[in-house]
Amino acid sequence: MTESAAQAVERLTRWAPDFPVPGVRFADLTPVFADAAGFDALVRPLAELAPDADVVAGIDARGFLIGGAVAVAKRCGVLAVRKSGKLPPPVIARQYALEYGTATLEIPADGVDLRGRKVLLLDDVLATGGTLVAAAELLTDAGAEVVALAVVLELNALAGREKVERELPSMPLRSLVQI
Ligand code: AMP
Repeated sequence: MTESAAQAVERLTRWAPDFPVPGVRFADLTPVFADAAGFDALVRPLAELAPDADVVAGIDARGFLIGGAVAVAKRCGVLAVRKSGKLPPPVIARQYALEYGTATLEIPADGVDLRGRKVLLLDDVLATGGTLVAAAELLTDAGAEVVALAVVLELNALAGREKVERELPSMPLRSLVQI
């Protein structure tokens, strides 16, 4: 029988207490991605989302892996939403608060014309929601229409969904697994 995303995440996720700072329980999906059946169980349902999307955006860094695979399955292009300092200028940037500290996300300000493009935005984990909101706002700043948001794993206790639904009320959010 084909494995579900929930079964794959349950079977393979590495849970790391107090990483990268005390108090955070880090969900490392690396082993799920490294497993053929596990990765397939994540990519298949994500690729069925947002049939109207023509670009898949993935957030640094595990979002790149899912984003690339989903983009191939959907026959879309893929856009890497990068952490600061990785892209040559000019860039469009958004700073945001994390579960631990602050960070900045960037995309190129030229070369990729996102005006009027329909984007499916992906990441591995939804924690407080700050990353997903910042990435969606960044893409919107660049002229894209973010038609759907999706993550593999939603950490319910951190209430990221409430933040996303409050700040991005027009963008549907799908999570494959909720813990
Ligand atoms: P947040 O902005 O708080 O929703 O954090 C989500 C982003 O940070 C995602 O890109 C995750 O990869 C990473 N992240 C934050 N908290 C965790 C966690 N507890 N386990 C795994 N990844 C996390």
